[in-house]
Amino acid sequence: MPDSPEDLARLLAEADHAIVLTGAGISTESGIPDFRSAGGLWEEYDPMEVASMATFQSEPERFWRFHRPRIDMLASVDPNPAHHAVAEMQRRGVLHELVTQNIDRLHSRAGSPEPIEIHGSLDRGTCIRCRATVEIDVLIARADAADDGVPRCEECGFQMKSGVILFGEAMPEVALEAAFDAADAADVILVVGTSLQVAPVSQLPGMVLSRGGRLAILTESETPYDHRADVRLHGKAGVQLTEALDALDGLL
Ligand code: NAD
Repeated sequence: MPDSPEDLARLLAEADHAIVLTGAGISTESGIPDFRSAGGLWEEYDPMEVASMATFQSEPERFWRFHRPRIDMLASVDPNPAHHAVAEMQRRGVLHELVTQNIDRLHSRAGSPEPIEIHGSLDRGTCIRCRATVEIDVLIARADAADDGVPRCEECGFQMKSGVILFGEAMPEVALEAAFDAADAADVILVVGTSLQVAPVSQLPGMVLSRGGRLAILTESETPYDHRADVRLHGKAGVQLTEALDALDGLL
């Protein structure tokens, strides 16, 4: 029999320290395309190419033509039932740390306290040359005022980027360390909406399993860890996590 949201609820209720790792798939029900699903961003662009440090440095106009409309798109969406279910599970003490690859801030907006944002977030503008930072609104205003659409640093004149980590850019050390510390402390890891293709986050399930912990996966498509999952759910994250939350009522 396939696993059910009730199986997930049981796994979480039995855990001493469950953590959750999320990816782009938890936000598709908010209207943000993921990278690899049908209709995802890969079909239109190669994000590894355009959302990369190399493109940002050599073709800032092209980079900002891709990035600027995404900022507006992300400002126009709201957290969905999956983000709310995760936040509620954290409030109830069923889930502890939340590690996310998403840059959309929807976990924070749903009430999750201090998500560990491993790929940064759309929270500010930075100059990679002189390290000046500005509020995200200032970054957007500068992009919109520039003839070529590229926001520039007032200190040194170099093009600025947002806080989103680009392909080819170093990950934020503090967030990385926090993610690995969380996996070190966890006896259960719940993976939602990530294809587990991008390192180093893809290593977190293996870390928990290698210490005798347990793994739950909820994605629509396959992942390299499916055969090692104690609970494997397919289908929409919003539906499955809401049902798991309801099932927790009878268990806690
Ligand atoms: P991915 O696109 O590689 O994989 C998404 C996974 O989520 C797939 O397994 C897919 O089947 C699943 N999925 C899609 N919709 C789902 C739903 N409604 N319910 C359950 N599962 C669903 O995403 P990734 O592994 O996170 O890697 C993409 C990278 O791109 C990440 O590094 C992330 O930073 C970035 N990204 C972020 C956003 C965002 O912030 N919302 C959006 C696109 C890409």
